Amino acid sequence: MLSVIIERHHRWLVAMGYTTATPLESLALITSEIGEAANECRTGAPTEQFSEELADIVLRTFGLARSLNIDIEAAMLAKIEKNEATGRKGRLI
Ligand SMILES: [Mg+2]
Repeated sequence: MLSVIIERHHRWLVAMGYTTATPLESLALITSEIGEAANECRTGAPTEQFSEELADIVLRTFGLARSLNIDIEAAMLAKIEKNEATGRKGRLI
């Protein structure tokens, strides 16, 4: 399912010509979406727009990964497994 979403979003990015951003520019755009999400909950409970801004963060992240041929689904699963194996060892939290 995740790959379906990623590929659909990628096709839209290509169709719109939104594939020229450098990795650093893409990270800046992800940061801007985080700011938009923060704005949607700055007065307390998240607004109705909050979920859309969260989606923007994830879609921009998926788009960056796809543009760099990073298998983000595999990377996420590997990170979950790493987290599960590590637990809180070596962490201050
Ligand atoms: Mg947004």
